[in-house]
Amino acid sequence: MAGPSAALVALTRSAPSSRTRSNPAAGTVSCAARVPVLDAGLMPPYWWECCDCRAKFDFQRIAGVRGMPDFVWDHLVPAGWDQSVLVRPCPTCRKVCLRVGYQFPRRNNVGLLLIHAVGLGPIDDYVPMMWETQPDDSDDTFFDFKYVRGRSVWGLNKPAVFSRINLRVLFGMFAEKTGQPFP
Ligand SMILES: [Zn+2]
Repeated sequence: MAGPSAALVALTRSAPSSRTRSNPAAGTVSCAARVPVLDAGLMPPYWWECCDCRAKFDFQRIAGVRGMPDFVWDHLVPAGWDQSVLVRPCPTCRKVCLRVGYQFPRRNNVGLLLIHAVGLGPIDDYVPMMWETQPDDSDDTFFDFKYVRGRSVWGLNKPAVFSRINLRVLFGMFAEKTGQPFP
C-alpha cells in the first residue's frame, strides 16, 4: 500500500512494538518515549483532545490501544456502541470532556471532536459507521460515514456505503444509543 495512507498507518503505531521498530517510516519515534501531550509535529490522524483545555493525548495513554481502529474493535464494538466510552476525564484539567479528535478529511486545519458513533456488524472484519462530529469552527455538528476493515486505518478516510434498510437500522441505533430522535 503506497501513498499518504502508509504514513498515516505508521503514525498511529506510536506504541512500542516490534512492528513500530521494524517500520522505517516510524524511525523518528523513540520506543521509550511516551509523551503525555502530543507534539503537533507528530500528530497522528486520530488522537484524544480535551474540549475545555484543548490538551491532546495519544490513544495508548487514554484508552490503552494503538489507535482508532483498535478503539473500535476493543472498546466500541464490545460495549455495544455505548456512547459513554467516547468521553474520558482529561489528565490535565480533570474535566470529563476528553474526546477523539481528528481533522476534517477534505479541508485542512479544521479539527473535529467525535461526539457520537454507531456502527453495524461486525460483518466479518468490516464495521461501517456513522459518526456525529463537532468542527472547531462551527456550533453545528456533522455526520461522517466511514468504516474500519480489520485493524487498518484505511477505511477511516473513505465513505461507507449503506443500503436503505441498513441506514434505517443505523438511524434507529443512533436514536437508541444517544437518546435523541434521528434524523
Ligand atoms: Zn482538559
